[in-house]
Amino acid sequence: MCGIVGYVGKDECASLLVKCLKRLEYRGYDSAGIAVFEKGRIKTVKAKGKIAEGLQKKLDEKCPHGTCGIGHTRWATHGEPSDINSHPIGNGRVSVVHNGIIENYREIKESLMRHGYGFESETDTEAAVKLLDYYYSGDPIDAISKMMAKVEGAYALGILFRDFPDRIYAVRKESPLIVGKGRGENFIASDVTAILDHTKEYYILEHGEIAEITENAITFYDASSGDTVEKEVQVADWDIEAAQKGGYEHFMLKEIHEQPSALRNTISPRIKDGLPDFSECGLTDEMIRNYRQIWIVGCGSAMHAGMVGKYVTEELARIPVNVDIASEFKYRDPLIKENDLCIIISQSGETADTKAALELANKAGADTLAIVNVVGSSIAREAKMVMYTNAGPEISVCSTKAYAVQCAFMYLVAFKVAYAVGTITEDECRKLCGELCGIPDIVAKCIEEKEQYQFVASKLINADSLLYIGRGLDYALSMEGSLKLKEISYIHSESYAAGELKHGTISLIDENMPVIAVATQERLFDKTQSNVKEVKSRGAKVVLICKEGAAVDEASVDYKVQLPGIRDLLMPLVTIVPLQLIAYYTAVLLGRDVDMPRNLAKSVTVE
Ligand code: GLU
Repeated sequence: MCGIVGYVGKDECASLLVKCLKRLEYRGYDSAGIAVFEKGRIKTVKAKGKIAEGLQKKLDEKCPHGTCGIGHTRWATHGEPSDINSHPIGNGRVSVVHNGIIENYREIKESLMRHGYGFESETDTEAAVKLLDYYYSGDPIDAISKMMAKVEGAYALGILFRDFPDRIYAVRKESPLIVGKGRGENFIASDVTAILDHTKEYYILEHGEIAEITENAITFYDASSGDTVEKEVQVADWDIEAAQKGGYEHFMLKEIHEQPSALRNTISPRIKDGLPDFSECGLTDEMIRNYRQIWIVGCGSAMHAGMVGKYVTEELARIPVNVDIASEFKYRDPLIKENDLCIIISQSGETADTKAALELANKAGADTLAIVNVVGSSIAREAKMVMYTNAGPEISVCSTKAYAVQCAFMYLVAFKVAYAVGTITEDECRKLCGELCGIPDIVAKCIEEKEQYQFVASKLINADSLLYIGRGLDYALSMEGSLKLKEISYIHSESYAAGELKHGTISLIDENMPVIAVATQERLFDKTQSNVKEVKSRGAKVVLICKEGAAVDEASVDYKVQLPGIRDLLMPLVTIVPLQLIAYYTAVLLGRDVDMPRNLAKSVTVE
């Protein structure tokens, strides 16, 4: 959560910082600010609201001039979104932008108050700022090291010291931060997408390291010894177009359209000679045969992809698969052990809850396999094995292509495991892999059916609440469809196992409660159709998502979305398209801010 940027070079930096911050707005957008050195003094401009509504307006009135500065777009954890709680937070001598939570801020604040410090904001961040000021006596590295020894929690900090107007300092623990290496200019950023049009070269700052950045030099120090540290430069393989809207009205729509190519990039490199190939991460058939059970852990859409993984792996490989919500997994003392495989799914690779779950699984001695999108992210580095989803940057807060590729990975895992344990033959495995490779083209066709999704959306906009129902894999998809809708349209919705409705929830049904029934599984079609009749006879308007040629009782549905009839097992990769686009067009028709839905942020780096 929250985006941090910093620039030091030859250019005027206020507008540059704002442009970079806009690329990070997906990480938080309740307030924003910048601090720039102007004639040796730190000038701060910050405001509540999105960048265009708050900060930009203030900058249009009065803009600081200078070539070294830091910026922040916030997702508040401590203190409401307000001008005063916005970052940068400083006192004239030190100025800080922070991503994360300082857990012991109360203690620090109380002790500093005893030393005569006053506090203006309600943020936890101010405790770190004032602590830096307290320790500072001419040597920034010394002050930062001492501050780090005292503060607990997660942080990425960009820091300016008034006495050093030509440089930025940066430090991190848990929260992500990279240092961008340009020519005669250098950067800091929460995420490399923010600075891609300036440079593709960057360093990953590690915990316990402090970066000192001037226009011509980047120096890393070990915080405990004060020694300098040599680091390897990384090169981003994403280009700037990938981080721009490219003519689409919203990032979400663009990313939905990118799904076919994202799926190809995920699937193709992992199928060699027609069979699943996991050699890049070192997962061998022998290891798989020794696993007692599999765990799949994630949050939100990643967890929903895990649900798909459970159904397909159990069906094909006949091995128990537990799917867990990361924030629950960590605190319920799960029965995970050696000889278990724990698959950790996260788009950003920085999700705090998921990272905590990974730590627990590593500690328990399980083999951990991270499935992440962002190369070099914390989860990627901390897991024993890693595979990347190759989806390119996902900017929209509401995840679409990242979910699709995570699901695709679940199939690759299921095929690999089933073949290794011998529950499917080589021929069957080749056939399944071949069909998986054909999915991107089918997804591309489904995306084109825009009118029918818009039509369904137009029928949902007056609802206060709706239900998604399905059985088996369709239930897993209902969960994701419901999440998409509520996330961006703010219409309340729930997903329900279709057979479970009659055990309580059906009492909610009346003519004001539309039901979206997902019924793509032939084996379960009649059962779900019976549940559809139950809700229809109680007044619900029913949208049915089914395969072409399904024997639909037309009297029990109001609108029908038909999908190409492929193998049941693979249907989720196709079914997701109407669910995403129905949510998208509903939000658009309601005039919602699709890419930046209220109260949310991407890359959830707080627990
Ligand atoms: N905890 C800090 C605050 O609430 C930083 C939040 C963030 O990461 O945006 O201001």
